[in-house]
Amino acid sequence: MAAPQRQLVFAPLGGVGEIGMNLSIYGLGDERRRQWLAIDLGVSFASEEHLPGVDLILPDIRYLVEERKNLVGFVLTHAHEDHFGAIIDLWPKLKVPIIATPFTAALLEAKRASEPGAPEIPVTVVPLGGRFTLGSFDVEMVTMAHSIPEANALIIRTPAGTVLHTGDWKIDPTPILNDATDEKKLRALGEEGCLALVGDSTNAVRDGRSPSEKDVAATITEIIKAAPGRVAVTTFASNVGRLRSVMEAARAAEREVVVVGRAMDRIIQVARETGYMEGVQDLRSADAYGYLPPRKVVALCTGSQGEPRAALARIAEDQHPDVTLSRGDTVIFSARTIPGNEKAVGRIVNGLIDQGITVITDRNALVHVSGHPRRAELEELIGWVKPQILIPVHGEALHLSEHAALARRCGIKQVIQCRNGDLVQLSGQPGIIDEVPEGRIYKDGSLLVAADARTVADRRRLSFAGAVSVALALSDKGELVDDPSLDLIGVPERDRDGALMFEAVYDAVIATFDSLPRARRRDPDAVAEAVRRAVRAAVAERWGKKPMCHVHVLTV
Ligand SMILES: [Zn+2]
Ligand SMILES: [Zn+2]
Repeated sequence: MAAPQRQLVFAPLGGVGEIGMNLSIYGLGDERRRQWLAIDLGVSFASEEHLPGVDLILPDIRYLVEERKNLVGFVLTHAHEDHFGAIIDLWPKLKVPIIATPFTAALLEAKRASEPGAPEIPVTVVPLGGRFTLGSFDVEMVTMAHSIPEANALIIRTPAGTVLHTGDWKIDPTPILNDATDEKKLRALGEEGCLALVGDSTNAVRDGRSPSEKDVAATITEIIKAAPGRVAVTTFASNVGRLRSVMEAARAAEREVVVVGRAMDRIIQVARETGYMEGVQDLRSADAYGYLPPRKVVALCTGSQGEPRAALARIAEDQHPDVTLSRGDTVIFSARTIPGNEKAVGRIVNGLIDQGITVITDRNALVHVSGHPRRAELEELIGWVKPQILIPVHGEALHLSEHAALARRCGIKQVIQCRNGDLVQLSGQPGIIDEVPEGRIYKDGSLLVAADARTVADRRRLSFAGAVSVALALSDKGELVDDPSLDLIGVPERDRDGALMFEAVYDAVIATFDSLPRARRRDPDAVAEAVRRAVRAAVAERWGKKPMCHVHVLTV
């Protein structure tokens, strides 16, 4: 098959205008027939109160399902949930090749193995810095520093031009684990010629440079050395470099490390398999904690986001079977609080402080750094790569527009601000030329539901104003054959005068039915609608809120 080569396009199907749910596609060919390469398939977390019961938000991939025959595969940049969290749920709809580096592949496999009923997902493993072809795309991995092992930018070479897709990255000359960001390869790309840079905007609002992981390691070491009692450290389990910093700090303070929490165990196992735990001391399991003197232990815990079932929340509430803390102990939150989790984290922090425990967060010490580039780093990358076009992605509107403004200040002529679903032409005359279908779906329990399905909207209404259910039995003459049956769910029991709401609803049902002309009483739909309106009005008059109301009319 001759390589289609006329036009190179890009479309984000998630991750632009939001942080999370990353999914990008690159297309080569023309509008009649394009070959597609997909990058990442992530989730967003639904901490928003307006999505009750929804655990995760996934990108709507109906466009990729339609184009499945032309989709050559997925390349995963790294193993953060916002980049690979939707694979297990969505890959079965596509069944195309997946390419990833060893740590990402191993973590995907460990996650899959822990989910009952998850499908087999074949992943082709490429080495760090590896180069391979997928259809007409020639893809090269570029090692970048970030907050997880093996973050990769992708150089995507095509007959219509070369793109640098940065993934998540920062410039950290002294990371703990990975090689530093591969400046040499990026500079070489600048010499070779780069048509477009599609890049991380997360920290484009922040001046200067992100501090190094090494600085964080030094702070954690100081704190642990000076701590008078036990120390617990919580961080994102996937930040293996940070885990190693804590382990090194414990060693320097002659303390043992106890690992607490399943996610932490899982990542450490994967890190061990992929060579990221070499030289680490023996770690102890949670049941050893109770035998160690307070000044000889560091507990490495899950739960940095206040997750109620994770280790730290249980420890803070004194509900953990193995691990306890008391007055004079220290807890280090070595993580940023993700927006939406502030209340849950605040509850734990305050609970710990009330127990006389010292709490250290990134607000009072350098115990965490972001894995994303600030302005000076964004400028430096642009200087290395010298792209003709820059497209800000991975950010909310503010981050995207700040990144765009920065790129213009750096002299980039073509800065294209697009949103999810925009089809952007990169070759020839660059610009937004069309739209492709995009959207979001919800993971609700073990099911995937459409974002516009009534389920979640109904649940939101129920949580706000409850529901009233009415059942009426009518004879064929249009007479009530029995008393109406009522159920009030989540509606106050009494009004402000102390009268029962149930009775008010009952009276409204009877009065409404009696007021209907005889002919209409024989029409079940008309009866149901009249009763529904009357019930909502009767409750609203006494409560100031209108519940959902379901009226079932049975004819007997
Ligand atoms: Zn990331
Ligand atoms: Zn990300």
